[in-house]
Amino acid sequence: MNDNTAAGDEYGKLYRSEDKIYPREVTGRFATLRRLAMFVLLGTFYIGPWIRWEGRQAVLFDLPARKFHIFGLTLWPQDFIYLALLLIVAAIGLFLLTALAGRIWCGYACPQTVWTEAFTWIESAIEGKRSKRMRLDKAAWNLEKVWRKSAKQFCWIALALFTGYTFVGYFSAIDDLTIRLVTFSAGPWEVFWVLFYGFATYGNAGFMREQVCKYMCPYARFQSSMFDHDTLIVTYDAGRGEPRGARRRGSDHKSQGQGDCIDCTMCVQVCPTGIDIRKGLQYECIACAACIDVCDSVMDKMSYPRGLIRYSTEHAMEHKKYHVFRPRTIVYSVLLATLAIALVSSLALTRPVILDVIRDRNALYRDVGRAGIQNTYTIRVVNKHNTPHDYLLGVSGIEGIRLESDTAFSVAAESVFTLPVSVTVPHQHAGGGHAIIFHLESTDGSDIRISEESRFRGPLERL
Ligand code: SF4
Ligand code: SF4
Repeated sequence: MNDNTAAGDEYGKLYRSEDKIYPREVTGRFATLRRLAMFVLLGTFYIGPWIRWEGRQAVLFDLPARKFHIFGLTLWPQDFIYLALLLIVAAIGLFLLTALAGRIWCGYACPQTVWTEAFTWIESAIEGKRSKRMRLDKAAWNLEKVWRKSAKQFCWIALALFTGYTFVGYFSAIDDLTIRLVTFSAGPWEVFWVLFYGFATYGNAGFMREQVCKYMCPYARFQSSMFDHDTLIVTYDAGRGEPRGARRRGSDHKSQGQGDCIDCTMCVQVCPTGIDIRKGLQYECIACAACIDVCDSVMDKMSYPRGLIRYSTEHAMEHKKYHVFRPRTIVYSVLLATLAIALVSSLALTRPVILDVIRDRNALYRDVGRAGIQNTYTIRVVNKHNTPHDYLLGVSGIEGIRLESDTAFSVAAESVFTLPVSVTVPHQHAGGGHAIIFHLESTDGSDIRISEESRFRGPLERL
């Protein structure tokens, strides 16, 4: 045996592949809630691109046109500050939720959880319940195993591709995308992203599952820093449950010195991450509450009170007072409220038409003889409305000031119009620098009036 082989053997001992987890099916209050969340969230995602608003796709992130349409709101590149603000608000909202309710997001609403729930549901519908699935995996290949495994793969791949197609439909108008895909005329990048997101869904929800939460998700790593003694966690009541042990139903376990846990291991069997919550809070726990549901059903069968495993807090378990308002929840709430108000009010005040005036800096001014002194500008009108508008441009600020260019023009819907203009001022008023104001007024009855300040420069000797 050479050194390389020895080293390889050593690594072989150090590396241990993950055992496949076969979570047992569970029913109960929280399982119903989780399924409801799955239907609502997946339904919203799949139906989302088909919703129409004011004649177009309601939610469309049109990257080539650099415009994001969110229902009636259109965000242009200069509005991306709102998008950044929205992401910050969402992040702080998640921090607040985590400080109050622990990993509720992970257990009920995280895309990884939601799609894994859907893939697991397909798996158990085709391959059967936990014990049947385990037997099927151990069995030699036969006709039944081939058709069940093939049917599962077919459904998984179909759902994954449909997910990829829907996701791309948020970036490329879904009705056109559908036509292009069915007529095989879709662009290579569209096909690539459909396959890429399909593959990511298939890999994460079909195979990686709990390993994404355990090893890949950065949020799982740092969210414990948001926990404190009043954060809601899934807890096993060791004081009530220990010492655990098997017993006959109806026996007086207390007189035998036993706690309420009958050591049936059902809480471990239903856990999607394969942990034993009786060992205490572990970072792998995604707070899905499957162990609560199953333990409650065991407690019902034994005629013990429910809640041996329950949502609780460290302080509540120690019979201490629970505080909703703690420094961290107050800080998160204040930040969240401030940013949310800033976002809503700035969106409400956002102007649907923007007038920009850029002075030509190459020429300070031009003497045009008896007509006076001339400056040139570039006028930029951004029309964010989804209808075209007719405008009239004017200028004021100096006696005798006038525009030399054509001042009436139309700007198409959701487009940018650029117009070079010259402004002339009589010699006697043109010396030095002056503030001037450009006015833009709609002439089609849409009641748009905006103005923008600029500077007019003339010769210094006339000051
Ligand atoms: S399900 Fe309840 S009773 Fe059964 S092992 Fe878990 S904690 Fe104990
Ligand atoms: S320990 Fe319970 S709540 Fe945590 S992941 Fe496992 S089943 Fe879900």
